[in-house]
Amino acid sequence: MTRPLDAKELAARFEGVFGAAPDGVWQAPGRVNLIGEHTDYNEGFVLPFAIDRTARVAVRVRPDSAIRMLSTFGNQGLTTADARSLDRATARGWTKYPLGVIWALQQRGLNIPGLDLLLDSDVPRGAGLSSSHAIECAVISALNELTAASLGAEDMVLATQRAENDFVGAPTGIMDQSASLRATAGHAVFLDCRDQSVRLVPFDADSAGLVLLVIDTRVSHSHADGGYAARRESCELGAEVLGVRALRDVGLEDLEEASGLLDAETFRRVRHVVTENDRVLQAVELLDTAGPGAIGPLLDASHASMRDDFEISCAELDLAVEAARTAGAIGARMTGGGFGGSAIALTPAGSAQRVRTAVERAFAEAGYAAPGIFSVRPAAGARRLA
Ligand code: ADP
Ligand code: MG
Repeated sequence: MTRPLDAKELAARFEGVFGAAPDGVWQAPGRVNLIGEHTDYNEGFVLPFAIDRTARVAVRVRPDSAIRMLSTFGNQGLTTADARSLDRATARGWTKYPLGVIWALQQRGLNIPGLDLLLDSDVPRGAGLSSSHAIECAVISALNELTAASLGAEDMVLATQRAENDFVGAPTGIMDQSASLRATAGHAVFLDCRDQSVRLVPFDADSAGLVLLVIDTRVSHSHADGGYAARRESCELGAEVLGVRALRDVGLEDLEEASGLLDAETFRRVRHVVTENDRVLQAVELLDTAGPGAIGPLLDASHASMRDDFEISCAELDLAVEAARTAGAIGARMTGGGFGGSAIALTPAGSAQRVRTAVERAFAEAGYAAPGIFSVRPAAGARRLA
Protein backbone atom coordinates (compact mmCIF):
# COMPACT_ATOMS: atom_id res chain seq x y z
CA MET A 1 0.00 0.00 0.00
CA THR A 2 1.25 3.48 -0.76
CA ARG A 3 1.91 5.83 2.12
CA PRO A 4 -1.15 7.82 3.24
CA LEU A 5 -1.11 11.50 2.28
CA ASP A 6 -0.76 13.99 5.11
CA ALA A 7 -2.93 17.11 5.30
CA LYS A 8 -0.54 19.27 3.28
CA GLU A 9 -0.12 16.72 0.54
CA LEU A 10 -3.85 16.12 0.33
CA ALA A 11 -4.53 19.87 0.14
CA ALA A 12 -1.95 20.26 -2.63
CA ARG A 13 -3.48 17.36 -4.56
CA PHE A 14 -6.94 18.89 -4.04
CA GLU A 15 -5.80 22.21 -5.45
CA GLY A 16 -4.33 20.46 -8.47
CA VAL A 17 -7.62 18.71 -9.19
CA PHE A 18 -10.18 21.38 -8.30
CA GLY A 19 -8.19 24.54 -9.00
CA ALA A 20 -8.51 26.09 -5.54
CA ALA A 21 -7.36 25.30 -2.00
CA PRO A 22 -9.76 23.28 0.22
CA ASP A 23 -11.56 24.96 3.11
CA GLY A 24 -10.00 22.35 5.39
CA VAL A 25 -8.83 18.77 5.88
CA TRP A 26 -10.50 16.33 8.28
CA GLN A 27 -9.53 12.86 9.42
CA ALA A 28 -11.37 9.94 11.04
CA PRO A 29 -10.05 6.49 12.01
CA GLY A 30 -11.19 2.93 11.51
CA ARG A 31 -11.74 0.82 14.60
CA VAL A 32 -11.12 -2.54 16.21
CA ASN A 33 -13.56 -3.99 18.69
CA LEU A 34 -11.48 -5.17 21.65
CA ILE A 35 -14.35 -7.13 23.20
CA GLY A 36 -18.16 -7.18 23.13
CA GLU A 37 -19.36 -8.99 20.01
CA HIS A 38 -23.01 -9.18 18.93
CA THR A 39 -23.90 -7.30 22.09
CA ASP A 40 -24.69 -4.00 20.33
CA TYR A 41 -28.11 -4.90 18.96
CA ASN A 42 -28.96 -6.49 22.30
CA GLU A 43 -28.61 -3.03 23.87
CA GLY A 44 -25.47 -4.19 25.66
CA PHE A 45 -21.85 -3.13 26.01
CA VAL A 46 -18.97 -2.90 23.54
CA LEU A 47 -15.36 -1.81 23.92
CA PRO A 48 -13.90 -0.68 20.59
CA PHE A 49 -10.89 1.55 20.06
CA ALA A 50 -9.94 3.83 17.18
CA ILE A 51 -6.88 2.71 15.20
CA ASP A 52 -3.98 4.52 13.62
CA ARG A 53 -5.41 3.97 10.14
CA THR A 54 -7.57 6.80 8.89
CA ALA A 55 -9.66 8.28 6.12
CA ARG A 56 -8.84 11.91 5.33
CA VAL A 57 -10.95 14.32 3.29
CA ALA A 58 -10.12 17.72 1.86
CA VAL A 59 -13.34 19.64 1.29
CA ARG A 60 -14.36 22.94 -0.24
CA VAL A 61 -17.85 24.35 -0.19
CA ARG A 62 -19.16 25.44 -3.61
CA PRO A 63 -21.44 28.36 -4.44
CA ASP A 64 -23.82 26.02 -6.32
CA SER A 65 -25.32 22.60 -5.51
CA ALA A 66 -22.84 20.48 -7.52
CA ILE A 67 -20.95 17.73 -5.72
CA ARG A 68 -17.64 16.57 -7.19
CA MET A 69 -15.77 13.72 -5.54
CA LEU A 70 -12.44 12.04 -6.20
CA SER A 71 -10.37 9.50 -4.28
CA THR A 72 -6.67 8.75 -4.38
CA PHE A 73 -7.38 5.04 -4.81
CA GLY A 74 -8.63 3.19 -7.84
CA ASN A 75 -8.55 4.93 -11.17
CA GLN A 76 -12.12 6.03 -11.52
CA GLY A 77 -12.39 9.71 -12.43
CA LEU A 78 -14.40 12.45 -10.83
CA THR A 79 -17.85 11.40 -9.58
CA THR A 80 -20.51 14.08 -9.76
CA ALA A 81 -23.89 14.50 -8.12
CA ASP A 82 -26.29 17.25 -7.18
CA ALA A 83 -27.01 18.07 -3.54
CA ARG A 84 -30.64 18.88 -4.43
CA SER A 85 -31.38 15.46 -5.88
CA LEU A 86 -29.35 12.69 -4.25
CA ASP A 87 -30.20 9.24 -5.53
CA ARG A 88 -29.25 6.17 -3.53
CA ALA A 89 -30.04 3.90 -6.47
CA THR A 90 -27.30 5.33 -8.66
CA ALA A 91 -24.63 6.01 -6.01
CA ARG A 92 -21.58 3.80 -6.59
CA GLY A 93 -18.53 2.55 -4.66
CA TRP A 94 -17.08 4.68 -1.92
CA THR A 95 -19.07 7.76 -3.00
CA LYS A 96 -22.15 6.18 -1.37
CA TYR A 97 -20.67 7.12 2.00
CA PRO A 98 -20.17 10.88 1.53
CA LEU A 99 -23.49 11.09 -0.34
CA GLY A 100 -25.20 9.11 2.42
CA VAL A 101 -23.91 11.54 5.02
CA ILE A 102 -25.11 14.54 3.02
CA TRP A 103 -28.49 12.87 2.59
CA ALA A 104 -28.76 12.05 6.30
CA LEU A 105 -27.97 15.67 7.21
CA GLN A 106 -30.63 16.84 4.77
CA GLN A 107 -33.10 14.50 6.47
CA ARG A 108 -32.41 16.44 9.66
CA GLY A 109 -33.51 19.59 7.86
CA LEU A 110 -30.04 20.95 7.23
CA ASN A 111 -29.28 22.82 4.05
CA ILE A 112 -26.14 21.24 2.58
CA PRO A 113 -24.37 23.16 -0.18
CA GLY A 114 -22.50 21.69 -3.13
CA LEU A 115 -18.89 20.74 -2.48
CA ASP A 116 -15.65 19.44 -3.90
CA LEU A 117 -14.12 16.55 -1.99
CA LEU A 118 -10.89 14.55 -2.23
CA LEU A 119 -10.54 11.36 -0.16
CA ASP A 120 -7.50 9.37 0.88
CA SER A 121 -7.69 6.36 3.20
CA ASP A 122 -5.35 3.72 4.56
CA VAL A 123 -8.02 1.83 6.49
CA PRO A 124 -7.99 -1.67 4.96
CA ARG A 125 -11.41 -2.25 3.48
CA GLY A 126 -13.58 -5.27 4.10
CA ALA A 127 -11.28 -6.48 6.92
CA GLY A 128 -13.79 -5.61 9.62
CA LEU A 129 -12.02 -2.36 10.53
CA SER A 130 -14.90 -0.19 9.37
CA SER A 131 -13.32 1.60 6.43
CA SER A 132 -16.83 2.77 5.57
CA HIS A 133 -17.38 4.59 8.86
CA ALA A 134 -13.93 6.15 8.64
CA ILE A 135 -15.08 7.85 5.44
CA GLU A 136 -18.47 8.81 6.86
CA CYS A 137 -17.01 10.20 10.07
CA ALA A 138 -14.38 12.27 8.23
CA VAL A 139 -17.09 13.67 5.97
CA ILE A 140 -19.57 14.44 8.72
CA SER A 141 -16.85 16.13 10.78
CA ALA A 142 -16.06 18.33 7.79
CA LEU A 143 -19.69 19.17 7.04
CA ASN A 144 -20.48 19.81 10.70
CA GLU A 145 -17.95 22.63 10.68
CA LEU A 146 -18.37 23.91 7.15
CA THR A 147 -22.14 24.24 7.40
CA ALA A 148 -22.17 25.33 11.05
CA ALA A 149 -24.60 22.47 11.70
CA SER A 150 -23.25 22.34 15.28
CA LEU A 151 -24.13 18.71 15.83
CA GLY A 152 -22.85 17.05 18.98
CA ALA A 153 -21.10 13.68 18.85
CA GLU A 154 -24.32 11.79 19.61
CA ASP A 155 -26.18 13.42 16.73
CA MET A 156 -23.30 12.72 14.36
CA VAL A 157 -23.37 9.08 15.47
CA LEU A 158 -27.07 8.83 14.64
CA ALA A 159 -26.70 10.69 11.33
CA THR A 160 -23.96 8.33 10.12
CA GLN A 161 -26.07 5.36 11.21
CA ARG A 162 -28.94 6.77 9.15
CA ALA A 163 -26.56 7.18 6.19
CA GLU A 164 -25.45 3.52 6.41
CA ASN A 165 -28.88 2.06 7.12
CA ASP A 166 -31.10 4.07 4.82
CA PHE A 167 -28.84 5.36 2.04
CA VAL A 168 -26.07 2.76 1.72
CA GLY A 169 -28.40 -0.04 2.85
CA ALA A 170 -26.16 -1.70 5.44
CA PRO A 171 -27.90 -2.72 8.70
CA THR A 172 -25.18 -1.44 11.03
CA GLY A 173 -25.42 -0.10 14.58
CA ILE A 174 -23.67 2.71 16.45
CA MET A 175 -20.41 1.10 17.57
CA ASP A 176 -18.11 1.89 14.66
CA GLN A 177 -18.87 5.58 14.36
CA SER A 178 -18.95 6.03 18.14
CA ALA A 179 -15.37 4.76 18.23
CA SER A 180 -14.31 6.79 15.21
CA LEU A 181 -15.86 10.03 16.48
CA ARG A 182 -15.38 9.77 20.24
CA ALA A 183 -12.08 7.93 20.86
CA THR A 184 -8.91 9.42 22.28
CA ALA A 185 -5.38 8.06 21.88
CA GLY A 186 -4.37 5.33 24.32
CA HIS A 187 -7.98 4.63 25.27
CA ALA A 188 -10.81 2.28 24.41
CA VAL A 189 -14.39 3.50 24.13
CA PHE A 190 -16.68 1.80 26.63
CA LEU A 191 -20.05 2.25 24.98
CA ASP A 192 -23.44 1.42 26.41
CA CYS A 193 -25.52 0.70 23.31
CA ARG A 194 -28.78 1.29 25.20
CA ASP A 195 -28.28 4.97 25.91
CA GLN A 196 -25.15 5.75 23.84
CA SER A 197 -23.25 6.81 26.96
CA VAL A 198 -19.49 6.58 26.61
CA ARG A 199 -16.59 6.36 29.00
CA LEU A 200 -13.00 6.40 27.81
CA VAL A 201 -11.03 3.60 29.43
CA PRO A 202 -7.22 3.58 29.49
CA PHE A 203 -5.86 1.06 26.98
CA ASP A 204 -2.24 1.98 26.48
CA ALA A 205 -0.91 -1.22 24.96
CA ASP A 206 2.44 0.40 24.09
CA SER A 207 3.25 1.34 27.67
CA ALA A 208 2.29 -2.14 28.80
CA GLY A 209 4.82 -3.58 26.34
CA LEU A 210 2.03 -5.10 24.24
CA VAL A 211 1.17 -5.07 20.57
CA LEU A 212 -2.31 -5.58 19.18
CA LEU A 213 -2.09 -7.64 16.00
CA VAL A 214 -4.92 -7.80 13.50
CA ILE A 215 -5.00 -11.02 11.50
CA ASP A 216 -7.15 -10.60 8.41
CA THR A 217 -8.06 -14.12 7.32
CA ARG A 218 -9.23 -12.72 3.95
CA VAL A 219 -12.14 -15.13 4.26
CA SER A 220 -15.65 -13.92 3.68
CA HIS A 221 -18.12 -16.76 3.87
CA SER A 222 -21.17 -16.62 1.70
CA HIS A 223 -23.49 -17.30 4.64
CA ALA A 224 -22.29 -14.25 6.61
CA ASP A 225 -25.40 -12.17 5.88
CA GLY A 226 -27.85 -14.99 6.55
CA GLY A 227 -25.93 -16.00 9.67
CA TYR A 228 -26.06 -12.47 11.03
CA ALA A 229 -29.81 -12.22 10.47
CA ALA A 230 -30.37 -15.62 12.07
CA ARG A 231 -28.38 -14.64 15.18
CA ARG A 232 -30.39 -11.46 15.55
CA GLU A 233 -33.58 -13.48 15.32
CA SER A 234 -32.38 -15.91 17.99
CA CYS A 235 -31.62 -13.00 20.29
CA GLU A 236 -35.04 -11.47 19.70
CA LEU A 237 -36.70 -14.81 20.36
CA GLY A 238 -34.67 -15.26 23.55
CA ALA A 239 -35.63 -11.82 24.84
CA GLU A 240 -39.28 -12.43 24.03
CA VAL A 241 -39.46 -15.80 25.80
CA LEU A 242 -37.58 -14.43 28.80
CA GLY A 243 -39.89 -11.41 28.93
CA VAL A 244 -37.23 -8.69 28.69
CA ARG A 245 -36.89 -5.70 26.38
CA ALA A 246 -33.45 -6.87 25.25
CA LEU A 247 -30.90 -9.50 26.29
CA ARG A 248 -29.04 -6.70 28.02
CA ASP A 249 -31.59 -7.18 30.79
CA VAL A 250 -30.62 -10.83 31.40
CA GLY A 251 -27.90 -11.39 34.00
CA LEU A 252 -25.52 -14.29 34.62
CA GLU A 253 -27.70 -15.28 37.55
CA ASP A 254 -30.70 -15.68 35.22
CA LEU A 255 -29.02 -18.22 32.95
CA GLU A 256 -29.95 -21.31 34.90
CA GLU A 257 -33.64 -20.51 34.77
CA ALA A 258 -33.32 -19.49 31.11
CA SER A 259 -31.92 -22.90 30.22
CA GLY A 260 -35.24 -24.44 31.22
CA LEU A 261 -37.30 -21.97 29.18
CA LEU A 262 -35.40 -21.89 25.90
CA ASP A 263 -34.63 -24.51 23.29
CA ALA A 264 -31.00 -25.64 23.38
CA GLU A 265 -29.79 -23.56 20.46
CA THR A 266 -31.52 -20.35 21.52
CA PHE A 267 -30.14 -20.86 25.01
CA ARG A 268 -26.57 -21.05 23.71
CA ARG A 269 -27.10 -17.85 21.69
CA VAL A 270 -28.46 -16.11 24.78
CA ARG A 271 -25.62 -17.41 26.93
CA HIS A 272 -23.08 -15.90 24.56
CA VAL A 273 -24.67 -12.46 24.76
CA VAL A 274 -25.11 -12.55 28.52
CA THR A 275 -21.56 -13.76 29.26
CA GLU A 276 -20.09 -11.41 26.63
CA ASN A 277 -21.72 -8.39 28.27
CA ASP A 278 -20.22 -9.54 31.53
CA ARG A 279 -16.80 -9.93 29.92
CA VAL A 280 -16.94 -6.36 28.66
CA LEU A 281 -17.65 -5.12 32.18
CA GLN A 282 -14.82 -7.24 33.55
CA ALA A 283 -12.43 -5.99 30.85
CA VAL A 284 -13.27 -2.37 31.71
CA GLU A 285 -12.62 -3.02 35.38
CA LEU A 286 -9.32 -4.74 34.65
CA LEU A 287 -8.17 -1.97 32.33
CA ASP A 288 -9.01 0.58 35.02
CA THR A 289 -7.13 -1.29 37.73
CA ALA A 290 -4.55 -3.71 36.35
CA GLY A 291 -3.91 -2.59 32.75
CA PRO A 292 -3.97 -4.25 29.32
CA GLY A 293 -1.80 -7.19 30.41
CA ALA A 294 -4.69 -8.55 32.49
CA ILE A 295 -7.39 -8.97 29.83
CA GLY A 296 -5.93 -11.92 27.90
CA PRO A 297 -8.16 -14.59 29.49
CA LEU A 298 -11.26 -12.52 28.69
CA LEU A 299 -10.29 -12.35 25.01
CA ASP A 300 -9.82 -16.14 24.99
CA ALA A 301 -13.15 -16.72 26.71
CA SER A 302 -14.86 -14.38 24.25
CA HIS A 303 -13.53 -16.40 21.34
CA ALA A 304 -14.60 -19.71 22.87
CA SER A 305 -18.09 -18.31 23.41
CA MET A 306 -18.39 -17.16 19.81
CA ARG A 307 -17.04 -20.45 18.53
CA ASP A 308 -19.11 -22.79 20.70
CA ASP A 309 -22.23 -20.88 21.80
CA PHE A 310 -22.85 -18.27 19.13
CA GLU A 311 -21.29 -20.40 16.37
CA ILE A 312 -20.02 -17.54 14.22
CA SER A 313 -16.36 -18.50 13.96
CA CYS A 314 -14.84 -20.55 11.15
CA ALA A 315 -11.83 -22.81 10.69
CA GLU A 316 -9.53 -19.98 9.55
CA LEU A 317 -10.42 -17.77 12.52
CA ASP A 318 -10.01 -20.64 14.98
CA LEU A 319 -6.62 -21.48 13.49
CA ALA A 320 -5.46 -17.84 13.64
CA VAL A 321 -6.44 -17.63 17.30
CA GLU A 322 -4.92 -20.96 18.23
CA ALA A 323 -1.63 -20.37 16.39
CA ALA A 324 -1.29 -16.89 17.88
CA ARG A 325 -1.89 -18.18 21.41
CA THR A 326 0.55 -21.07 21.01
CA ALA A 327 3.24 -18.67 19.74
CA GLY A 328 2.94 -16.35 22.74
CA ALA A 329 -0.11 -14.07 22.41
CA ILE A 330 -1.60 -13.46 25.87
CA GLY A 331 -5.14 -13.49 24.46
CA ALA A 332 -6.80 -13.74 21.06
CA ARG A 333 -10.28 -13.71 19.58
CA MET A 334 -12.16 -13.26 16.37
CA THR A 335 -13.53 -9.73 16.04
CA GLY A 336 -16.46 -8.42 14.05
CA GLY A 337 -19.56 -10.12 12.75
CA GLY A 338 -17.98 -13.52 12.18
CA PHE A 339 -17.92 -16.19 9.44
CA GLY A 340 -14.58 -14.74 8.32
CA GLY A 341 -12.97 -11.33 8.65
CA SER A 342 -10.29 -10.67 11.23
CA ALA A 343 -8.97 -11.96 14.53
CA ILE A 344 -7.02 -9.90 17.05
CA ALA A 345 -4.11 -11.10 19.18
CA LEU A 346 -2.77 -9.18 22.16
CA THR A 347 0.92 -9.99 22.14
CA PRO A 348 4.03 -9.06 24.12
CA ALA A 349 6.08 -6.77 21.84
CA GLY A 350 8.97 -9.22 21.98
CA SER A 351 6.82 -12.08 20.66
CA ALA A 352 5.00 -10.19 17.90
CA GLN A 353 7.26 -11.39 15.11
CA ARG A 354 7.06 -14.97 16.34
CA VAL A 355 3.27 -14.79 16.43
CA ARG A 356 3.13 -13.40 12.88
CA THR A 357 5.38 -16.13 11.57
CA ALA A 358 3.51 -18.86 13.41
CA VAL A 359 0.13 -17.75 12.04
CA GLU A 360 1.50 -17.46 8.50
CA ARG A 361 3.02 -20.90 8.75
CA ALA A 362 -0.14 -22.46 10.18
CA PHE A 363 -2.19 -20.97 7.32
CA ALA A 364 0.27 -22.24 4.72
CA GLU A 365 0.25 -25.72 6.25
CA ALA A 366 -3.55 -25.79 6.26
CA GLY A 367 -3.61 -24.77 2.61
CA TYR A 368 -5.31 -21.42 3.34
CA ALA A 369 -4.55 -18.19 1.50
CA ALA A 370 -1.91 -16.06 3.23
CA PRO A 371 -3.48 -13.87 5.94
CA GLY A 372 -2.87 -10.13 6.20
CA ILE A 373 -1.22 -9.35 9.56
CA PHE A 374 -0.51 -5.88 10.90
CA SER A 375 -0.37 -4.06 14.22
CA VAL A 376 -2.71 -1.27 15.29
CA ARG A 377 -2.47 1.30 18.08
CA PRO A 378 -5.32 2.84 20.08
CA ALA A 379 -5.44 6.26 18.40
CA ALA A 380 -7.33 9.55 18.45
CA GLY A 381 -10.84 9.95 17.07
CA ALA A 382 -12.01 12.23 14.26
CA ARG A 383 -10.49 15.68 14.10
CA ARG A 384 -9.62 18.57 11.85
CA LEU A 385 -6.06 18.45 10.50
CA ALA A 386 -5.87 21.75 8.63
P1 ADP B 1 -15.69 -2.22 6.17
O1 ADP B 1 -16.38 -0.98 6.61
O2 ADP B 1 -15.74 -3.30 7.20
O3 ADP B 1 -14.29 -1.97 5.74
P2 ADP B 1 -17.72 -2.12 4.17
O4 ADP B 1 -18.21 -3.11 3.17
O5 ADP B 1 -18.69 -1.52 5.12
O6 ADP B 1 -16.48 -2.79 4.92
O7 ADP B 1 -17.08 -0.90 3.41
C1 ADP B 1 -16.13 -1.11 2.40
C2 ADP B 1 -16.46 -0.20 1.21
O8 ADP B 1 -15.97 1.13 1.52
C3 ADP B 1 -15.77 -0.60 -0.05
O9 ADP B 1 -16.57 -1.49 -0.78
C4 ADP B 1 -15.60 0.73 -0.75
O10 ADP B 1 -16.78 1.09 -1.42
C5 ADP B 1 -15.41 1.71 0.36
N1 ADP B 1 -14.00 2.01 0.67
C6 ADP B 1 -13.54 2.28 1.90
N2 ADP B 1 -12.21 2.53 1.89
C7 ADP B 1 -11.81 2.37 0.63
C8 ADP B 1 -10.55 2.44 -0.02
N3 ADP B 1 -9.43 2.77 0.64
N4 ADP B 1 -10.52 2.19 -1.33
C9 ADP B 1 -11.64 1.89 -2.02
N5 ADP B 1 -12.85 1.82 -1.48
C10 ADP B 1 -12.96 2.04 -0.16
MG1 MG C 1 -18.46 -0.93 7.04
